[in-house]
Amino acid sequence: MTLRVAIVGAGPAGIYAADLLIKHDKVSDVSIDLFERLPAPYGLVRYGVAPDHPRIKGIVNSLREILDSGKIRFFGNVNYGTDVTLNDLKQHYHAVIFATGAMRDAELDISGIDLPGSFGAADFVSWYDGHPDVPRDWPLHAKEVAIIGNGNVALDVARMLTKRPKDLYPTEVPDNVFHALESSQVTDVHVFGRRSPLHVKFTPLELRELGDLEDVDIVLYDEDFGFNDAWREAAGANKQLAVMERIFEDWRRREVGKASRRLHFRFFAQPLEVLGSFAVEGLRWERTVLTASGQPQPSGEVRRLQVQALYRAVGYFGSPLAELPFDSQTGVVPNISGAVLDDNGFQEPGVFVTGWIKRGPVGLIGHTKADAIETVNTLLEQRDAWWNPPESDLRAITRLLTKRGCKFTDLSGWQRLDFKETKLGQIRGKERLKVVSREEMLSLAIPR
Ligand SMILES: Cc1cc2nc3c(=O)[nH]c(=O)nc-3n(C[C@H](O)[C@H](O)[C@H](O)COP(=O)(O)OP(=O)(O)OC[C@H]3O[C@@H](n4cnc5c(N)ncnc54)[C@H](O)[C@@H]3O)c2cc1C
Repeated sequence: MTLRVAIVGAGPAGIYAADLLIKHDKVSDVSIDLFERLPAPYGLVRYGVAPDHPRIKGIVNSLREILDSGKIRFFGNVNYGTDVTLNDLKQHYHAVIFATGAMRDAELDISGIDLPGSFGAADFVSWYDGHPDVPRDWPLHAKEVAIIGNGNVALDVARMLTKRPKDLYPTEVPDNVFHALESSQVTDVHVFGRRSPLHVKFTPLELRELGDLEDVDIVLYDEDFGFNDAWREAAGANKQLAVMERIFEDWRRREVGKASRRLHFRFFAQPLEVLGSFAVEGLRWERTVLTASGQPQPSGEVRRLQVQALYRAVGYFGSPLAELPFDSQTGVVPNISGAVLDDNGFQEPGVFVTGWIKRGPVGLIGHTKADAIETVNTLLEQRDAWWNPPESDLRAITRLLTKRGCKFTDLSGWQRLDFKETKLGQIRGKERLKVVSREEMLSLAIPR
């Protein structure tokens, strides 16, 4: 029997799941259809990882090899929930794996957060990575900017705002983004974290990189430093933190004052309110003190900082999927080892999840491999839970999409688009020139 599996979402989690199914020794014959709402695969590797991180972007090379193995059909520009439904999948496949990730910003519940000039980091990331579904323009007239969050996404945003545009040019940064960044007025970016410099969620490589930015001073405040054993213990001291402590200490010895842009780190800082009547004018925040277990507590000392823009980088959050259960507290589809559970805790036959929609938006690309291993093993162990699809013709799903007027792309369409982007990039001395608009992507991918 040929095992027919639909995978929804062509990010790393979906592609790794496909690879495992193809190579699994319990599977003699498998046919995989990969549905993706965008005309291009690779999810956040293409639309999340920053353009000036070519080493990480390079992961697409191994993902491409999997797609090119000849064993996966790619259906780009197909949105689960509108172009294709759960019932459609039941008619054509034995099982479905949802790998739809997380795209939107987690909320930050403070007064003024909805003022114009207050942005979610995820929206900014989508903009600078050329996501087809976000507006082409981004307001960059703020001189002073606050970023709330102490994870790597906060560092990405800080770096993209302060880095000299000419240093971004050779990367795959889209043209509209490059020109907008060239006209940016920013001089000071302040990154806020509620706890100590040893409680950050940054990784050393990403932190160190900021110190190498041309014409950017790193500004640290003495009141935030004085590393001590209590902090170290509360932060769960490890090698990574020791490296970061050295990075901060090195920066504190540097002379500042000559660069045209400054990147400030403010620790022990709890945001209270975004100030402004019609647009962001400032941030009211309170200094914190840490409990013995490292929890931030209010100190009663409230301060204000003048800023004209604010970015919240407090995490991503998953979105519900049509006809599937969803945990609105955690932003994931409830599951046990990848098998989806209904509202009463019973397993939904034939429905599995992997990646960020399975366990929440934390962790690196590599972690989605472990997710995929678990989910694929669960799927293969649960043969009794597979669907019994009445439609056996592999071409039936293509006919259905065509009948619905869905303009889907296939793997050769994506390869054409990929080739075009690389070629355009070569001509301009860039790694790639991303095609941004969905219409243009489709017109390149689908020959008339
Ligand atoms: C800003 C940012 C920077 C990052 N930088 C790094 C880094 O430098 N290094 C690193 O290792 N990790 C990094 N990560 C983490 C990494 O991107 C994730 O671990 C990984 O992408 C999660 O994979 P996923 O496949 O679960 O989700 P995604 O990559 O989000 O893929 C999900 C896919 O599903 C598609 N989809 C969603 N809904 C539907 C639907 N209804 N129908 C069809 N398709 C749908 C989406 O379009 C998307 O292509 C970063 C993450 C972010 C947010």
